[in-house]
Amino acid sequence: MPKKAMAKQVAPKLKGKTSSKAKPAAKASEKPVKLVPKPLAHEMMKRLQKLYPDADCELNFDSPYQLLTAVILSAQTTDVQVNKVTGKLFSRFPTAKSLAEGSIDEIKEIIKPTGYFNAKAQSIQNCAQQLVLRFGGKVPNTLEELTTLPGVGRKTANVVLGVEFGQRGWTVDTHVQRLSKRLGLTKNADPYKIELDLIKLFPDEDWSNLSITIIWHGRRMCFARNPDCPACPLNDICPSSMV
Ligand code: SF4
Repeated sequence: MPKKAMAKQVAPKLKGKTSSKAKPAAKASEKPVKLVPKPLAHEMMKRLQKLYPDADCELNFDSPYQLLTAVILSAQTTDVQVNKVTGKLFSRFPTAKSLAEGSIDEIKEIIKPTGYFNAKAQSIQNCAQQLVLRFGGKVPNTLEELTTLPGVGRKTANVVLGVEFGQRGWTVDTHVQRLSKRLGLTKNADPYKIELDLIKLFPDEDWSNLSITIIWHGRRMCFARNPDCPACPLNDICPSSMV
């Protein structure tokens, strides 16, 4: 039974909840908001954790190699879409060694539904080859080593470290970027600067869970377009609330 991976680290392109041609999408205020005081930031997270007590990684995987591969594939698509192809991919190529030695055309064919399949196939195979060549086929458990792998940036590495190795860290994907600004947790746009702001705001034992919790809220309610502010439990304290 594959583990339920939580983190869709790589940000899916949110399309919002509606696609009505007649009605333009409502937008939450994207104007810079004032930073909220730390107690209010903590209250927001408390409410979100209550709303999503089971927030967890939503990718399917059975090993660190499979999680790393799934996270790379999740760029520009959704976890649901990735899960549709990884069953077959990991059945055919269950280890880094098998993927490293696999037919690139076969890999492309399997992962095609995730989009950008030429680049992604090359990326996951190059990554698998480096895992075999430099790490004995195993996924390293440090940020420094992970980010030397092809296709692996800080965000992807933090997902793997948090989900698979239980290390504390922030995963600043597109949802965390958007919500952090809307909630007044940061004024920065750069993911690394946002990460530093969040690190200062919250205790380190909460970083990984809060990352996932914010990602879940971004996927389920605080959409890029048409955020569901009327239903949101933060609508009385969120500086971007449209209620
Ligand atoms: S009230 Fe909720 S849904 Fe609306 S912008 Fe704030 S966090 Fe997002």
